[in-house]
Amino acid sequence: MTEPRPTRGGMQKFLKPSNYSSAYLKPYWDGLLQGKFLLPRCAKCRELFFPPRPMCPKCLSGELAWEEMEPEGTLHSWSELLDRRFLILEVPMVLGVVDLKNSAGRLVTRIRAPATEVKIGMPLRLVFPKYTHEGKEMAMVEAEPVR
Ligand SMILES: [Zn+2]
Repeated sequence: MTEPRPTRGGMQKFLKPSNYSSAYLKPYWDGLLQGKFLLPRCAKCRELFFPPRPMCPKCLSGELAWEEMEPEGTLHSWSELLDRRFLILEVPMVLGVVDLKNSAGRLVTRIRAPATEVKIGMPLRLVFPKYTHEGKEMAMVEAEPVR
């Protein structure tokens, strides 16, 4: 029996969010679809945070307001995926940890650049590629170097 071969678009499958259906995340996913990076800010203590949660991680208040952030950050750390045995991905691919602007938090995502061009501390812009999931249009987050 032959091993199934990775197909084009496999990377998209891997990075598709699995928690898109949580009600409290709806503003976040809807924002991405409109090309906006929205993060929750606590109405009580003003804490801005990522990833979105149903309550403030600092004071536990559930009073949150969504704010549009500049989709920018810097590269905190990265690794290059070369081995396709474990994941169905288009390799090589750079995965990075991105420090979000305004110290809102960090996210892990694909960096749209070859490993030879990535550098810790480099400025990045978040982009929101669209895909279809169960017949519904969705968007995810990736990052590309600011040129
Ligand atoms: Zn708070």
